[in-house]
Amino acid sequence: GAERTKNVLILMSDTGGGHRASSEAIRDAFRMEFGDEYRIFVKDVWKEYTGWPLNDMERSYKFMVKHVQLWKVAFHSTSPRWIHSAYLAAIAAYYAKEVEAGLMEYKPDIIISVHPLMQHIPLWVLKWQGLQKKVIFVTVITDLNTCHPTWFHPGVNRCYCPSQEVAKRALVDGLDESQIRVFGLPIRPSFARAVLSKDQLREELEMDTDLPAVLLMGGGEGMGPVKETARALGETLFDNEAGKPIGQLIIICGRNKTLAAMLESDEWNIPVKVRGFETQMEKWMGACDCIITKAGPGTIAEALIRGLPIILNDYIPGQEKGNVPYVVDNGAGVFTRSPKETARIVAEWFSTKTDELKMMSENALKLAQPEAVFDIVKDIHELALQRGPMANIPYMLTSSFTSLI
Ligand code: UDP
Repeated sequence: GAERTKNVLILMSDTGGGHRASSEAIRDAFRMEFGDEYRIFVKDVWKEYTGWPLNDMERSYKFMVKHVQLWKVAFHSTSPRWIHSAYLAAIAAYYAKEVEAGLMEYKPDIIISVHPLMQHIPLWVLKWQGLQKKVIFVTVITDLNTCHPTWFHPGVNRCYCPSQEVAKRALVDGLDESQIRVFGLPIRPSFARAVLSKDQLREELEMDTDLPAVLLMGGGEGMGPVKETARALGETLFDNEAGKPIGQLIIICGRNKTLAAMLESDEWNIPVKVRGFETQMEKWMGACDCIITKAGPGTIAEALIRGLPIILNDYIPGQEKGNVPYVVDNGAGVFTRSPKETARIVAEWFSTKTDELKMMSENALKLAQPEAVFDIVKDIHELALQRGPMANIPYMLTSSFTSLI
């Protein structure tokens, strides 16, 4: 007879835009590849089922990345395993019952974590429920290089690493080779599968059809020197002698409403579009010729798929630092913190150095891994098949876990 639909629970948190984008990518790829075979739930279990600090991760993250030094200390001071283990154990003990209820509500056959802090506690819950042999648990790492060790847990069925650098770290941290797969960062299928012509997109997005275009953004939260860079570009992309623009500017501010309001009230000599949180990033990227962004892994991977040369102008200390050499050493972009320098580079790319722009675009395409998300869901599907037809998983309602503590 027909097998029952399997439940997949994706654990994420709305910190930045990257975790949500990865979750949606995996969900969409499951739907495209396997249709009704899987039912997907994307959940921020911490937010829904726990108290402080876990339910407040989004806010504390935003606060900390705005105060970069604080984040740096938090990132590095929690790196040794004994520190984060003890910390997570304490939190787990405190919120065990709630998290357990949260996880079990979805009766997952498969749990996918796309968050560095969502390995330990869910795996403990499974263990205490006696379910670690029945439920498949995989981690999809969403940092390209320098990732936090809480990503790595030896108890997972699979750890999907976006790059060889991350795979090496996983091995050092005690994972077995058989647990590790390197496919790339999961990017929404709309990036990989849609056929997009630049001309059509420009028309649809009401952009200038002839002028080269630069896309300026700062992750889901609109971080980094966006405002200063926009203003510098407003000057360098205007040719004073000819009295006309040499390029156009698209600014995507994400959830940063203050930034959008400020830029909207500016006056510009060149064609400029200021946008808030966009849901069709693949179109904006497809319509532009290069991108300026902080070193967010999601934005970088998407830009590579679209063949956009990248100017990195900022990074979050810790997890995003390694993304800089990943782009620069592979010839797909440059790094500078200076808005003036950034504006100068774009003006050159659009005038005297079009060859450099073209070469970097080719290098970007070489690094791109548009199939990664499909490789990941197919591999998870294989794991599910190996388990054989799944009997209904005996989720307990009362918690054996909480009785242990
Ligand atoms: N993003 C989006 N709409 C926006 C701004 C950003 O969909 O208006 C997406 C972007 O395409 C990327 C993610 O948010 O997939 C940002 O992730 P990244 O890892 O670059 O940085 P984060 O925001 O997580 O720090």
